[in-house]
Amino acid sequence: MRIDRFLCKLNIGSRREVKELLKKGEILINGKKGLKPDDKVDELTAVVSYRGKEFRYRPYVYYMMNKPAGVVSATEDLRDKTVLDLLKEQLSQHDNKDLYGIPSDDIFPVGRLDKDTVGLLLLTNDGALSHRLLSPAKHVKKCYYVETDLTIVPEELKKLEIGVDIGEKALTKEAETKLLSEKSCLLTITEGKFHQVKRMFQAIGLTVTYLKRVSMGSLVLDEDLPEGCIRELTEEEVNSLC
Ligand code: URA
Repeated sequence: MRIDRFLCKLNIGSRREVKELLKKGEILINGKKGLKPDDKVDELTAVVSYRGKEFRYRPYVYYMMNKPAGVVSATEDLRDKTVLDLLKEQLSQHDNKDLYGIPSDDIFPVGRLDKDTVGLLLLTNDGALSHRLLSPAKHVKKCYYVETDLTIVPEELKKLEIGVDIGEKALTKEAETKLLSEKSCLLTITEGKFHQVKRMFQAIGLTVTYLKRVSMGSLVLDEDLPEGCIRELTEEEVNSLC
């Protein structure tokens, strides 16, 4: 691969920026300076030294995003800002060296949250992991914090645990609930039907006024991660998901 392309892929800068950095000798590849943008590298073995750090190509990346309201869980959208736009914005804004060395191509959100839903969203380029997490056969638990327009009647909540009719062929699968206050609770489901949580509450006569995903499988939203921000998953988090 061309060096300038490779450096862009590693998120070190734009084509123009990396050309400039190469010219200034600020980037070494496999210990060598003076490389030209169109020289070729083996991206699987190349070691890039820049600002006192070393970067290698990593085949898979995993980010946790605390999705804000108003962005759509898609890679592209003609009208709305997407979670991918937000990710790229964050990667380019940060003068955070920890975010260099990360390819931003080919990343996609694992599953969807509605435009007005906030909270945990995993972004990765690992298709196999995404498949495992989303496969209905795997029954991966997703926990949501829910606020409603009206008081939640505990007996009605029990109905959600057993299964309710949301207009699909079958009732919803068994769920877990925890009442937190008059108008808020946690709901854990193993399915991922379109607007599922909102439709489940509709089935018991309530409207969801605020929805936040707090966990997916073993991955729990980092409480210190502000809305609209991303961080990489720790090795431990990745291993427990895989
Ligand atoms: N259920 C919903 O209704 N909306 C979401 O965004 C996620 C689950």
